[in-house]
Amino acid sequence: MPHPSSSPIPALDALKRAGLLGTAAQVAVLDYLQRTEHGHFSAEEIHRRIAASGDRMNLSTTYRVLNQLVEAGFVANVSLGKHHSLYELNTGEVHDHLVCVVCGRIEEFSDPTINRRRVAIAKKFGLRFIGKTLALHGVCAACAARAHPPRPRAK
Ligand SMILES: [Zn+2]
Ligand SMILES: [Zn+2]
Repeated sequence: MPHPSSSPIPALDALKRAGLLGTAAQVAVLDYLQRTEHGHFSAEEIHRRIAASGDRMNLSTTYRVLNQLVEAGFVANVSLGKHHSLYELNTGEVHDHLVCVVCGRIEEFSDPTINRRRVAIAKKFGLRFIGKTLALHGVCAACAARAHPPRPRAK
C-alpha cells in the first residue's frame, strides 16, 4: 500500500479544499505541475505542454491561472528578472535557486539562515508570504569553463 504522502491529493479536490472553483484550466495546470514535481517552467512552456496534451487553453488563461495558484499557495514563482518567471509546484519545502544566465540551468538550494531571515523580513514589512522564492543569477561553472578554458599550468 502506498504511503499517503506519496499520493498527492488529486488537483480538483485540492483546489476545492482551498476554496477555488477548480475550473478545467486550474485543474490542467495544477495537474501538470504535480506530475512534474521539481521542474521549473515558464508560463509559455506550461501552456505549450498542456495544449500538446489536447486541452484547449490560451496563454492569457494560463497566466491568470498561474497567478491564482501562486496566490493560493499551490505554485511558487521563481522570478528571473523583468517580465520573466518560472513556476514550480510549491511542495512546502522552502528553497531558493541558483540560475545560470548563459545556459538557463537551475539549481535548488536551501539555507536555514536565509529562510529565517526571509520570514523575519516579511514580518517586519507586514508582508503575507506566498511562496515567492529568491534567485541568485550568475554563470555556472560549466559555462564559465567554456568561456575561459583553464590553461595548462606552466611548471
Ligand atoms: Zn550555465
Ligand atoms: Zn525550485
